[in-house]
Amino acid sequence: MGNNKVKSPHVLIFPLPLQGPVNCMLKLAELLAINGLHVTFLNTDYIQNCLLKHTHVQSRFENYPGFRFETIPDGLHQHHPRTADKFVDITNGIEEVMRPLFIEMLTNGNLSSKSTKPVSFIISDGFYSFAADLAKDAGIPLVYFPTISPCAQWAFFCLPRLIDLAEVPFKEEDYDRKVSGVPGAENFLRQRDLPSYFRNTDLNHPIIQCILKEIQQIPRSQGLILNSSELIDGPMISQISTLCPNIYNIGPLHSLHKSILLSTQKASSHINSSNSLWEDDKSCMTWLDAQPQKSVIYISIGSLAVMTVDQLKELWHGIVNSGKRFLWALRPGSIAGEDDKYAIPPELSEATKERGCIVSWVFQEEVLAHPAIGLFLTHSGWNSTLESLVEGVPMICWPYFVDQQVNSRLVQEVWRVGIDLKDSCDRVTFEKAVREIMEDKKDEFESSASKIAKLAHQSVADQGGSARYNFNRLVEDIREMTQ
Ligand code: UDP
Repeated sequence: MGNNKVKSPHVLIFPLPLQGPVNCMLKLAELLAINGLHVTFLNTDYIQNCLLKHTHVQSRFENYPGFRFETIPDGLHQHHPRTADKFVDITNGIEEVMRPLFIEMLTNGNLSSKSTKPVSFIISDGFYSFAADLAKDAGIPLVYFPTISPCAQWAFFCLPRLIDLAEVPFKEEDYDRKVSGVPGAENFLRQRDLPSYFRNTDLNHPIIQCILKEIQQIPRSQGLILNSSELIDGPMISQISTLCPNIYNIGPLHSLHKSILLSTQKASSHINSSNSLWEDDKSCMTWLDAQPQKSVIYISIGSLAVMTVDQLKELWHGIVNSGKRFLWALRPGSIAGEDDKYAIPPELSEATKERGCIVSWVFQEEVLAHPAIGLFLTHSGWNSTLESLVEGVPMICWPYFVDQQVNSRLVQEVWRVGIDLKDSCDRVTFEKAVREIMEDKKDEFESSASKIAKLAHQSVADQGGSARYNFNRLVEDIREMTQ
């Protein structure tokens, strides 16, 4: 042993316990494992159970001898809804339960230098600001991976400046005022387009405090992974690089993942495997096969957002009144106060039967890639946005929280691939937006969507793609930093 021991890097990946970050980081984990690195993926018990129940992650990752899952409790009751309206419970659980257990695991437990396979590199969600001190004390290199959009991350970094300029918190009468405190975004960001928590009048709100901590810690790490590319988000990425010079732009990550898997014999059979926390409904793919090209609106508000019964009705009426076909992934628990039941408004039931397909959860990447999809009505989560950009599908954006208010503005004003309906919810507006994208300005939207899709594909190309280059650089740097 001793001097002859060849150090093989052991990367700990620690995502936020939510569908989007877990999906994203599992893809990164698989790419690192394909490159021969040892990887420990730290999930909460809840997330791990959902994955084991609804996906093939177990058998899929058994292909990589250096890969293992570890779990940690999230401090919430098993039946806690873990939805956006209860986000503070999730963050309290992180602070009070996960944080101390994680510290123990890394200092004395089965990830520590006292264990048989100590962790030698950490990739952590940007939200875990405590990881920076811990990694420093343990002498382990750390790279942060905030899985939100670069523009929203940049707005987070600008929060102290926005507070100084009195642009945060802001009042409703200022919603349409342009923001000057986010350099590089002065032309398109209004106050209502800032991250949702910036609307809060209480700067002591726990999430605001978390963001202020996070932005101090991220620049102390060895690097920052972003799920985007210079071709899509160049100006925002260069702003962030003034604070964090070592950025790995590996996005769109789901597309990079797909293209690397396709070229890897051992892994190519996993290409159609999802990382869903709910059961993917496959019957909707057969339904889609029977629909004409670009004729269907796909509707989903992601894994966390909730809506009221009134909002549900407005949306439903708007979609039905547009006369278009629709596939709706209506997640269990996404209607506030309604448990898993929702009533089809009787006046809509015939049209819904005729033109609609309603399921609980779909394998979204596969749905968006289907030729029948012509429009995505989305809550503008960053993963959903990227998945739509890659497939060249125009969007109607109806943002709920965190970075979604920012993303929906980018979709409309910067990439011009959709309509931002933030802060409104009425049937007439929904119908009008559908008609504008699928009828009146169809060619315009399709052409800008296909332009952005080309840039996304260029970013992950195996020859000259920036995501490929940055991913390879990340692997080399991990090897170098752990020697
Ligand atoms: N998703 C899915 N099926 C659905 C709805 C969502 O597979 O029916 C996936 C989607 O592909 C994306 C993730 O769930 O990767 C949601 O992440 P996003 O960042 O868009 O939003 P969040 O759920 O975090 O608000």
